[in-house]
Amino acid sequence: MRKISILGATGSIGASTLDLIRRAPLDWKVVALTANGNVTELAKLAREFGAEIAVTADAACLHDLREALAGSGIEAAGGPAALVEAASRQVDITIAAIVGCAGLAPTMAAIEQGGTIGLANKEALVSAGDVMTSAVARHGATLLPVDSEHNAIFQCLAGNDPAHVRSITLTASGGPFRDWSLEQLVGATPAQAVRHPNWDMGAKISVDSATMFNKGLELIEAHHLFPVGLDKLRIIVHPQSVVHSMVEYRDGSTLAQLGPSDMRVPIASVLAWPQRIETPLAPLDLAAIGELSFRAPDETRFPATRLARQAAEAGGAIPAVLNAANEIAVAAFLAGQIGFTRIAAHVEDVLSCYAPPAPACLADVIAVDAEARDRARDLINSAPMEPA
Ligand code: NDP
Ligand code: MG
Repeated sequence: MRKISILGATGSIGASTLDLIRRAPLDWKVVALTANGNVTELAKLAREFGAEIAVTADAACLHDLREALAGSGIEAAGGPAALVEAASRQVDITIAAIVGCAGLAPTMAAIEQGGTIGLANKEALVSAGDVMTSAVARHGATLLPVDSEHNAIFQCLAGNDPAHVRSITLTASGGPFRDWSLEQLVGATPAQAVRHPNWDMGAKISVDSATMFNKGLELIEAHHLFPVGLDKLRIIVHPQSVVHSMVEYRDGSTLAQLGPSDMRVPIASVLAWPQRIETPLAPLDLAAIGELSFRAPDETRFPATRLARQAAEAGGAIPAVLNAANEIAVAAFLAGQIGFTRIAAHVEDVLSCYAPPAPACLADVIAVDAEARDRARDLINSAPMEPA
């Protein structure tokens, strides 16, 4: 029996993880399930899976969570400190699936207990960078990538010497606005941005996919997970989302991982690694798909990957500033406060006015994140309803 905790259990990745666990209930003991405000769903999941503890990150929701769990014998807790405490309970594997830098402190707590971390929460690694990877090494934890591209790369690197890697190529679907003109992008609405053609995901990552910040964050994520050098990391647009990423070796061989665009595939790989488990998905039917196409990204319409590469090159605190500015800009876009093309412009504005020194510890990263958010909010509030 393996013990598992899921941080962000009520989200899209959380639901996919629990779907796989539901299919093999005897092999797993669920320790902690966490959420933010969706305590009704959290309590339902905690009861179904017999969790040891359910935690809402929002202390104001604890009363409702307690009521929803009354009589179940399941512990209920609320607030950031309770989230960190639950994440630090000993388990074999933690799925880190909170969205945004809000997942950083609990993910670090999970790392500190030394188990395996299935990392979906890319913003945490982007923000913390070396602070997180050095904690992984120090505590003997194992970081396995859930993000489909990084999971693909991880699989393609298995059994090979990283010194022999010539390049790593992250594939990008290009998002729902892949073929839109710059003029059309200016008028893109939140409803259009969250409707992804291939993947069913949470709202924030869907907007990131539309702006290509998702790929930018993934570039920085790959830089930390696979330290082969930024110059070896490439991005290619692949509208069908069948090839999830590729590794090219010095002898001219390129290894790719293919699969349906369903996060249960990389999650299953992480849950079972180094074994394989069954998933309920239909086999990949390449004859039905017919064609796989590839094209270079367009950084004029989608500047996010350029900004992310520059942030990765600068290193230190800069990726944390980029991430925080993006989180604020995405929230402002979803709230109808700024236009779609202002997201990248806004991130660039924040990067040009805030360049703090490199963080040395978790508290430093959290301070940079908080300050960058304040500056990002101030900039938005000082130029309300600016079109583009
Ligand atoms: P969702 O928005 O669907 O779910 C987010 C989860 O985090 C929910 O459980 C939510 O709780 C919780 N949460 C939200 N805000 C906070 C907070 N401030 N503190 C604590 N918990 C919080 O996101 P996704 O599942 O789509 O994404 C999760 C992570 O995985 C992201 O980092 C994303 O980039 C990454 N990822 C997602 C993929 C996907 O296909 N969805 C693919 C690859 C990576 P509540 O429901 O109560 O709000
Ligand atoms: Mg991805």
